[in-house]
Amino acid sequence: MTDDERMVANRKARHDKKEAYLRAIYDRNLARFRATAGQNAIAVAHETHAAMDAVIRQDQLKDPASAGIRCGKGCSHCCHESVAIWPHEAALLIEAVHKAGRELDRARLERQSVFTVENWRQQGLADRACVFLGADGSCTVYEFRPDVCRKLLVVTDPALCDTTHQQPDSVGRWFSWEAELMESAALEVFGASLMPQAVLAALRAKD
Ligand code: SF4
Repeated sequence: MTDDERMVANRKARHDKKEAYLRAIYDRNLARFRATAGQNAIAVAHETHAAMDAVIRQDQLKDPASAGIRCGKGCSHCCHESVAIWPHEAALLIEAVHKAGRELDRARLERQSVFTVENWRQQGLADRACVFLGADGSCTVYEFRPDVCRKLLVVTDPALCDTTHQQPDSVGRWFSWEAELMESAALEVFGASLMPQAVLAALRAKD
């Protein structure tokens, strides 16, 4: 075997090993979420969010680059983008709002619900805002926010997250493979919809 062939073989072996490792994480999460069938949706959402927080915390401790995370309260550019959640999360969000004695902007949810990931940005900025975003730019359901909001963490200047004025590919993310795989597995097992559709479906189920 030549040096070049050995290098290619080594690269392939590393790639295969990493793929098997990631596949195992994904499969473990699929099995864990499938095992929740029939359980209380809100309890499952709580447990999954706690698990997501734990994974992110653990990966941050292992990765010095996480010290560069720039996300903070009041920075809400990402809360104007389309967000996919699973139905249990919608049920939890509605419960959180009702317990807080607040009303949801159902008219805005209805308007948002006809938009897709592809044309989401065709809405005006105010209409694109998540219905859970407060007037001060902070999340009004922070403790109960979906996994997708928990794992989206950036290490670049927060101003670059403003997709109205910046290119989305200029944003640098801090990334946890385990968190990404956990969320992908949850969306596969529980089903994914954009937040307005998911929240409206959960509201209609309660009506
Ligand atoms: S749930 Fe909270 S963090 Fe997530 S998009 Fe809405 S306002 Fe932002």
